[in-house]
Amino acid sequence: NRILADKVEYPLHLGVTEAGTLYRGTVKSAIGIGSLLLDGIGDTVRVSLTDDPLKEVRAAKEILSSVGIQQYGPVLISCPTCGRTQVNLIDMAKEVEEKIKRFKKPIKVAVMGCAVNGPGEAREADFGIAGGVGGGLVFRKGKVIRSVPENELIDALMEEIEKFETEGEN
Ligand code: SF4
Repeated sequence: NRILADKVEYPLHLGVTEAGTLYRGTVKSAIGIGSLLLDGIGDTVRVSLTDDPLKEVRAAKEILSSVGIQQYGPVLISCPTCGRTQVNLIDMAKEVEEKIKRFKKPIKVAVMGCAVNGPGEAREADFGIAGGVGGGLVFRKGKVIRSVPENELIDALMEEIEKFETEGEN
């Protein structure tokens, strides 16, 4: 495709054939398709996985979103956790990722583990939570709007996103 892109003006289709099962195939496809897209090569894509075709579509959407071509619905930003993490962040991030799938708007949602670096990232996103001792902060469009106990953080975040989905900016 790189050689062809220099020689012809036809649309080019990208895909890694027989990439493999979900984990390995997604990584190979992301490298193969993503590197070409980042260089401006490619007009259509297909991710091939030895798995449910819906997962192929999801992987393709994640690649397009990661290279900045198109975002499909919400995107989750989450910290990797470290010694400062104050909440059960890994489970929280997975739960938030599942719950935001139903929303349509292309928002950014941050789930961060502490009050040191978390608020900065949570402020940059459209919505976010930053964990603290026994609880955390909920952010909307860069502002702290609630402080709640840990077991209420996700519900509080979802309430704010739900309001935005149904009522818009206000
Ligand atoms: S946001 Fe806080 S808890 Fe998460 S990785 Fe950064 S410093 Fe650690």
